Amino acid sequence: MGGPRGRRALVHAALGAGLSALVVMTVTVGDTSAAAEPAAPAAAATVASASAATATAVEPAESPAAATPSAAAPAALGGPLTPAELVAAFDRLVLPGTSDPAALPPITGDGATDAAIRAAGEARGYRVRAVADVGRLVPVGGVLLQPEAAAAWGRVQSAAAAAGHGGLRLVSGYRSAGDQAAIFGRYLASWGLDRALGRAAVPGYSKHHTGFAVDIAQGGLGGPAFGLSPAYAWLAADGFANARQHGFLPSYPPGAGPQGPDAEPWELVYAGTEAIRCAGPYATADPSCLPVRCPRLAATPVPFRFRQPDCTSLGVPLSPVETVDVDHTPSGRGYWVTTAGGVVRATNARHAGHGPTLRAGELVVALEPTPTERGYWLFTTAGRVFPYGDARHRGDVTTVLPPGQALRLPIVDAVATASGRGYLMVATDGGVFGFGDGRFQGSLPGVLGGRLPDAAVVGIAMAPGGYWLVGADGGIFTFGRIGFHGSVPGVLGGRRLDAPVAGMVASPAAGGYFLVGADGGVFTFGAAPFLGSLGGTGPRKSPIAALSPSPRDRSYLLVDAVGTTRAFR
Ligand SMILES: [Zn+2]
Repeated sequence: MGGPRGRRALVHAALGAGLSALVVMTVTVGDTSAAAEPAAPAAAATVASASAATATAVEPAESPAAATPSAAAPAALGGPLTPAELVAAFDRLVLPGTSDPAALPPITGDGATDAAIRAAGEARGYRVRAVADVGRLVPVGGVLLQPEAAAAWGRVQSAAAAAGHGGLRLVSGYRSAGDQAAIFGRYLASWGLDRALGRAAVPGYSKHHTGFAVDIAQGGLGGPAFGLSPAYAWLAADGFANARQHGFLPSYPPGAGPQGPDAEPWELVYAGTEAIRCAGPYATADPSCLPVRCPRLAATPVPFRFRQPDCTSLGVPLSPVETVDVDHTPSGRGYWVTTAGGVVRATNARHAGHGPTLRAGELVVALEPTPTERGYWLFTTAGRVFPYGDARHRGDVTTVLPPGQALRLPIVDAVATASGRGYLMVATDGGVFGFGDGRFQGSLPGVLGGRLPDAAVVGIAMAPGGYWLVGADGGIFTFGRIGFHGSVPGVLGGRRLDAPVAGMVASPAAGGYFLVGADGGVFTFGAAPFLGSLGGTGPRKSPIAALSPSPRDRSYLLVDAVGTTRAFR
C-alpha cells in the first residue's frame, strides 16, 4: 500500500515554559519510508538510531491568533525559573558528600528555648539541611567547599573577570552547626528573634552546612551591599543566567515566598547545571532530564537526584499499584480501571484478563477496549502490547527496534482505532508509533526538527482523520485532518496550571476533547461538555490519573491514583 507523500499537518504547539503565547505553525511533514507504510510500524522518533519524519518546511503562521515561532532557548541552560523554582531546584536534590543530621544541634543550650526558635524558624520556611562529609571538602582560600562547588566557583570568578567584574571573592562556604550557632547567637542577642531569623539561619538549618553554599562579595561590597555591586547585576541578569550557566543559583532570591531569611543577594548555592536545566515547571522532555527527575528509570546512578521524584508530570507512573487509566465500555454501561502493574478492575464490564508479565521497570500506561466490549489491550512504558479477550496483537514497539535496543523514553499513552484493528502509542517526547490501521500521521520530533518540546507529552487522542497529542502544560498538537479546538495555554494566557495535565480523551459524540489535570481540573474544548471537576480544591493526596467520557458525552469519570472513581453528569 502506498503511503502518504508530503502530508500537511497542522501543528498547534504551545511552546516554551517562559512563552505564554500560543504558537501555531503550519508544517509540511516530509515522509520517510518508515512513515509511509501504514501497515509498517511508524517512524520511531524516540529510537536513537531510527530516523523520524523530518520537517521540511516551516511556513509563516496563518492563524490570526498566531505568534511567530521564536528560536529555541539555549538548550544547555534551560529557560529562566521563577523564584520558587530557583529555590526548589536546590531543595529537591539529594546532595553528594552529605548526610542528613542524626540530631538537631543546640542553639542556646536551653531545650525549650531552642525548640521555640526552631518552630519560629520553620514557620518562616527554614528547613533542616544535610551536613557535609567534612573530609570531602576542599579549601578555596580560607574557605571549605564541596569539590563540585569549588570547581564551579573558579569558573564563575573567571567568567565574571572576563566580563569586567574583577574582585569577586568568597567570604564564607562550609559552616559547622557550631559556627552557625555563634553567628545566630550574636544576632539573637543584639536584635531579638524576629530580626535574627530574617538574617541568619537557625543552626542545623543553614545551606552552609552542606558545603554547597557560598557567601560572596565584590571588593568591599559584601552582605546586603553586594546586591548593589556590578558583579551582582551581572550574575542576576536574565534570570541569573551567568550563575545558572555554571551550576549556581541564588540561594534566597527575592519573591520566593517563605524560605527562611530575607532575600540574600550575597549567597549562591551550587546545584549543578543538570539539575538546574531540568528544574522547570514541568519536566522537559529532554531525555537527559529523565533520570534526574525519575531516578527509578535511570539505567545508571546519577550524582544528583531529586528527593521527591516528580515523575507524574512526565506521565510516568510511580508504582505498579498506582492507577493509571479508566475506560468506559463502548456501550457506556460499565468501565475498567487499570493499574501500572497491569491489574484491571471491571465494573459492569467484562473482565477479559489482566496481569501481563512485565520486565523490571516496565509499567502499564493505558487500557484501550475493542469495539465489541469483549476485550482490550494493555500498553506499557516499553511499548509492549498485551491483548485480552477479542483484542488482537497488531505489533508493538519492541518489534520495530533494532535487536537489543530499548526505547530511550517511555511510552506514556495509547489509543485504539474505532475499527479495533489498530492502535497508536506515544512516547514522552511526542514520538508516535502506529500499528494496524492506526496510521502514523506525524510526530513531534518530526515537526520540531529534533528539538524537544518544553513540556513532556502525556497523552494521545484520536478522531476520524488524525490525532492530537497533549503536553503536561496543556499544549495541544494536531496531526492529520482533524480540528484544533483550543489548548490550556491559549485559555490561561500567561498563567500557569496549578497541576500538570494528566491525560486527554476525545469527545466521543462530537468534535472536541477533554483534558484532565492531576488536581482534578477538567478542561473541555470544542463540543465536549463541561460537567464539573475537582479543580480549585487544592492539592490532592492522590493525583487524578485519567478521565473517561461516556459514549454520548452525558457523563465522565475521573479516577485518582488509588483507584477512586468520581462521576460527573
Ligand atoms: Zn550565607
